[in-house]
Amino acid sequence: MLVYVLKNQTAAKIGQGAGIEEKVILEAIERAGNNGITPKDLKFKCNLPQPQITKILKSLETKQLIKSVMSMSSSKKKVYMLFGLEPSHAVTGGVFYSGQEFESEFVDVLGDQCYRYLMEAKGAADNLPDPISRKSASLKSSKDICNYLNGLQISKVKLSVQDTEKILESLIYDGKLEKSKAVGSSSTSKDKVPENFYKVTKSVISSTGLMRMPCGVCPVFNDCGPGKEISPSTCIYMKEWLEL
Ligand code: SF4
Repeated sequence: MLVYVLKNQTAAKIGQGAGIEEKVILEAIERAGNNGITPKDLKFKCNLPQPQITKILKSLETKQLIKSVMSMSSSKKKVYMLFGLEPSHAVTGGVFYSGQEFESEFVDVLGDQCYRYLMEAKGAADNLPDPISRKSASLKSSKDICNYLNGLQISKVKLSVQDTEKILESLIYDGKLEKSKAVGSSSTSKDKVPENFYKVTKSVISSTGLMRMPCGVCPVFNDCGPGKEISPSTCIYMKEWLEL
């Protein structure tokens, strides 16, 4: 015989009039946390027929006890979680998704900014006398690049080092960057964790001056113009480019 035990916390949320099946489903959803649970997994966990689960899910949604979210990690299947929970990154796909849409323009802007930052590092490194200092000055850790991106305030949410590394990986696939591992300066003597460092790859064909123009990758390009608050005459990137 199948016996269900109900947690008091769940009972308080669902109210007195609810059936035992409704309570069991709510509890299974609560246990799934902010990763959510699919109706198929609910069927397996609660041992109830699918039509009954569907009916109960609708009822719980109407009572605003649960909500459904499209999960990017479950091949865009619906998952259910408690109404007040913020879906996990695994469900939403992370900061690069808005709803179910991949924000490709946003990712491109971040990628351009990473590349510009590493190009600037390379530019400064090229002035150094010996090759070893040149190489180490042109390398930046993903943590440094992440801090730089967050400082630009392009993203509404704070980017993590993992988010930044995803962008950097795409630039490696584009042949723009190369990665190396080393123990970073932030690692303590006890905790020597290798960090990922990135630098601009040596281009086989040197880029022309026009290709290096900052406006092409500028996130405020549309707001910039002569006489405006953002203007080429006051832009430090334009000034640097003209001085190259
Ligand atoms: S002049 Fe400066 S601010 Fe204006 S679009 Fe070019 S890089 Fe951006």
